[in-house]
Amino acid sequence: MSETILSVSNLTANIDGTPILKGVNLEIKAGEVHAIMGRNGSGKSTLSKIIAGHPDYEVTGGDIVFQGKSILEQEPNERALEGIFLAFQYPLAIPGVSNLDFLRVAYNAKRKHQGLEEMDAFDFEDLVEEKLEIVKMKSSFLERSLNEGFSGGEKKRNEILQMAVLDPVLTILDEIDSGLDIDALRIVSEGVNQIKTPEKGYLVITHYQRLLDYIEPDFVHVMQDGKIVTSGGKELALELESRGYEFLEEPVSI
Ligand code: ADP
Ligand code: MG
Repeated sequence: MSETILSVSNLTANIDGTPILKGVNLEIKAGEVHAIMGRNGSGKSTLSKIIAGHPDYEVTGGDIVFQGKSILEQEPNERALEGIFLAFQYPLAIPGVSNLDFLRVAYNAKRKHQGLEEMDAFDFEDLVEEKLEIVKMKSSFLERSLNEGFSGGEKKRNEILQMAVLDPVLTILDEIDSGLDIDALRIVSEGVNQIKTPEKGYLVITHYQRLLDYIEPDFVHVMQDGKIVTSGGKELALELESRGYEFLEEPVSI
């Protein structure tokens, strides 16, 4: 039996006193790709941000267990060091910090956390050069300020580059497909597929089925009003594409 990476049980959460998550259950085992679909406003991003430890949300019930340990009390930074990676729908820009410096600092913080020696600048550059191939970016991209003036596609590719360098245990991609043209979508998805390994877990959040043509999920979940209301295999995504989310509300015929 493969190892459970993430187990979310009966998770409820508020923002500013308003309940957003209303009892989410989700289990991700090593090697599995789970997709969460659902209408805008159903709580998909909220779930991903809460797993990553975003401070604006108040968890009011349930638990999030990562690699056998509850992480509810852990700071976002600690969760990241332990191997949870969230690629944002809208990545932030940090003017004045080069992309390379950002990556090296993040990478070395993780090495230190793992009790390993920091990697020097030269060796790190070699490592990053190798990873650049995966996202088809030029080296000059590393010298630019983090996400400053990056196009939508570049920002998303940069998120995948971070993922390749940091080698997370759990990767959460929140609408990594939003705003991408078909070529960028292909590069991003192929990047993820190249990085994917059987020891790691993946949560892919998307509003559209198209992304799942490229990153093939083992399980598809549909979120509605803060809960996972239906789960199935990848065929569920196709069904949603052809029938829309309305079919979830149709009465069950017996
Ligand atoms: P999705 O990612 O599925 O589109 P979200 O998780 O972003 O949905 O949002 C879920 C719900 O939470 C929405 O109804 C949204 O309006 C609400 N919400 C999100 N952030 C806030 C906030 N800061 N204050 C109040 N409501 C919020
Ligand atoms: Mg969202």
